[in-house]
Parts: sequence; structure tokens; C-alpha cells
Amino acid sequence: MKTLSFIASIALVFTQCKTPKKNTSSTENPTNKFAIVIHGGAGTILKKNMSPALESAYKAKLTEAAQTGYEILKNGGSSTEAVERSIHILENSPLFNAGKGAVFTHAETNEMDASIMEGATGKAGAVAGVTKVKNPISAAIAVMNQSNHVLLSGNGADTFAAQAGLDIVDPSYFYTEKRHQSLLRIKAKNKAQLDHDAKTAMHDPYIKNSKYGTVGCVALDKQGNITAGTSTGGMTNKRWNRIGDSPIIGAGTYANNSTCGVSSTGWGEYFIRGVVAYDIAAQMDYKKASLQDATHDVIQRKLTAAGGTGGIIAIDRLGNISWEFNTAGMYRASVNDRGVLTVKIYQE
Ligand code: ASP
Repeated sequence: MKTLSFIASIALVFTQCKTPKKNTSSTENPTNKFAIVIHGGAGTILKKNMSPALESAYKAKLTEAAQTGYEILKNGGSSTEAVERSIHILENSPLFNAGKGAVFTHAETNEMDASIMEGATGKAGAVAGVTKVKNPISAAIAVMNQSNHVLLSGNGADTFAAQAGLDIVDPSYFYTEKRHQSLLRIKAKNKAQLDHDAKTAMHDPYIKNSKYGTVGCVALDKQGNITAGTSTGGMTNKRWNRIGDSPIIGAGTYANNSTCGVSSTGWGEYFIRGVVAYDIAAQMDYKKASLQDATHDVIQRKLTAAGGTGGIIAIDRLGNISWEFNTAGMYRASVNDRGVLTVKIYQE
């Protein structure tokens, strides 16, 4: 044991001599560490149901998004810029349930939700139920920076985004055959259930264990600022202008420089009731829990006990990264403080 710790101290001294002196001018982040983590949704994602071509397509997009954000951070860009640009890549891909690939509502429309929070200032912005904004995460950022509000919804949010100069598209832009087919399948399944038990169907409009393709990103920049962002089409077959956790600060997204940043994906109602993203930060603040312990406790113990499914990604102020989910898989990628890229889909 003594020999081991002796070798470890020699190795540490050696590394410190070899490592070029880092810029320690920032009092916020004397280590100058930066890192990024993204997710593309959790759910019943099983290797046996995935073709090699589709798996490669997912991994390529996750890699592109994580690396784009990482380059921004490496060049001294802000965590908010990194989160926005990484999420744009996922929103512009039909693979994920956000932006272009948003799922369909019961009325065969696409209603999108997004939010952003900056850990330095506690500033936050969100939109719910937008139908014409090409990149809802940018609308959330505009709400944060260009309004006195935190959450705008529906037509008002679309109008605000247009006035803020964001890209507005015809709602037909969000049509994808794959998502439309998913809606029709769920409707058919629910109809069968309705015939069997009308009450149950009313209270369970979604298919349990479905895939949650929401996207999210959390980044720590060289200045020590953490930003978290989330963007989604919500849940297939949602109705009555249902809003999930993704635009709810504290449930779908949370960031605080003194603890961590979190982005969630999963069955939104459970994440709202559990105030999941904030609960993780609160455990770190009040209980002095580590990021790993806090994320594990909130997802594996509390969310699971409540009957919720899904997962989170998170980064703390030291650049530690955590991802945790209680589903079969979660699309995810990170580039850590040593520049190491990791891309994963299944439990491993
Ligand atoms: N959390 C999202 C919602 O409930 C869905 C998802 O994560 O895919 O709207």
C-alpha cells in the first residue's frame, strides 16, 4: 500500500512538472477546466432493435454535437454558446425528438418545448408549445436575454421568437414520416386499450416504456460557468396542450455554478413532480453530496420508486460528468476535462 501511494505521489509530481502552466487569472475557475455532455433521449433502446447503420448514424450525430460544443469551449467560448450550438445540431437532425424530429401530438401537430439556465447568474428562459420556431433552444435563450420573463408559451412564444429575429418555418417543416407512423401506432394501441378500459386509457395516453428522444446539453466553460439546456417535441400523442418537464426550470433543466448543471429526459410528469434537476443540485448544496451520489440517488432511488422512467446528464463545477438513467438505454456523449470523447447508447 505504502509503495503504491509512493508511486502515485511520484506520478503526480511528474505530471505537474510536465503540464504547462494553466491560466489561473479567473477566480471562478482557477483550474480552467471545461467539459461538455449531451443526451439524445432515454427509453427502451435495445441493441437487438437497432440496425448497425442506424446505430452509426446516432453515434455520428452525437459525436458531431459534442465535439462542436467542445471546440467552442476550447476556444474560450461561453457554455451558453456551446449548449446552443450543440443542441442546434441535434434539433436539425430527424433522429431526435426535438426540432426537425419532434414527435406528433394527438391532433397531428408538433408542439415543442425548450429551456436554458445559466449557473453564473441564475438567469433562465423557456418556451412551451411552439410550432414555428426552427430551433426552440434559441427561442429559450431569447426569452432569457431579451425579455423580463422566464417562460412563454404557444402563439405568443412563436410571435416573440419571430420578433427576436429567429428562424421561423412553416409547421410542415416538422413533418417526418417516422414520427407520424409512431403516432398512428400509438393511437391504434390506445384505441384497443380504450375499448378495454376507457378510464385507464384516459389516464395513460402514452405507451409505457416508449423512447424519449428529447435532447439536452450541459457545459462548463473556462470561466467556470455552467449552462444547461433541453429541447423536445414532448411525448407522442400528447393532447390538451400538455407541457412536459423540458421547459420547466428545476425539473427538465437546472444550473448553478456552485453545484452543477442538469438536463433531463424521460416521462416528464414524474420529472416535474420530483423536481428532478433541482433535487440533484440541492443534494449537492445541502447534503454536500458528490455529483455521482446525487444523480444516482435521484434517478435510481427516488425517480424509480415513484414509478418514473428516464435519465439525466450533469456536470459539476469541477468538470466531473455524470449520466444516470433507469431505462434500457440513453443516447449520450461527452468530452471530459482531458479532451476524451465518449459516445454510448445502451446500458454499459
Ligand atoms: N421529457 C419529455 C417530456 O415529457 C420527453 C422526453 O424526454 O423525450 O415532454
